[in-house]
Amino acid sequence: MAVTGLEGGAVSRGAVVVVLSGPSGAGKSTLERALRARRPDLAFSVSATTRPPRPGEVEGVHYRFVGVEAFERAVAAGEFLEHARVHGHLYGTPRPPVEACLRSGRSVLMDIDVQGAEQVRTSGLPAVFVFIAPPSVEVLADRLRGRGTEDVRSLERRLSDARCEMGAQGRFDHVVVNGDREAALAELLRLVDRVAPRWAAGGKA
Ligand code: 5GP
Repeated sequence: MAVTGLEGGAVSRGAVVVVLSGPSGAGKSTLERALRARRPDLAFSVSATTRPPRPGEVEGVHYRFVGVEAFERAVAAGEFLEHARVHGHLYGTPRPPVEACLRSGRSVLMDIDVQGAEQVRTSGLPAVFVFIAPPSVEVLADRLRGRGTEDVRSLERRLSDARCEMGAQGRFDHVVVNGDREAALAELLRLVDRVAPRWAAGGKA
């Protein structure tokens, strides 16, 4: 398994970034929530985005919702560990919280797209890359329609982007096919337990 960047002393006690990527509708968010419930010691990286909030999304919990200008200022100031345009909106991972967690030995979970994953790969941080795949593109389309969060244009865009994203899965350390949710969660949990040491506040792993 590729876990890189452990040398150098900036990271302690084997903390890693766990990157979850995969197309919209693969069930990534649901799996991620279930994983966080089982591993509450993992920090979750709250991204900044220019996408408008969906009903129920909370500022600072799901995302930091920012305007395009503020986002571009943050890019220019080097505040993002990675950033990308996804489905027509800008998304970025604030760098300082991730680095602070890794320094304290706390692993970080990140839900980012495949372009962002590529940038984390070249950042030199210790990271493990997991691609969450749907059982098929047809299942993905059904799930996206059933979710009802997207208008027709956004749905079409997410589906065509999904075909590109599926092509990137070969570059990931692991692919978890999310057919049966319990089986996928068990697989993900086994994997995370193997690479990310448990962390307790106060610094004891
Ligand atoms: P959604 O709009 O459905 O919340 O997210 C759309 C896509 O953006 C998802 O694939 C999600 O993983 C990705 N995403 C969320 N935050 C970030 C981020 O900070 N950076 C990148 N590159 N992608 C992100």
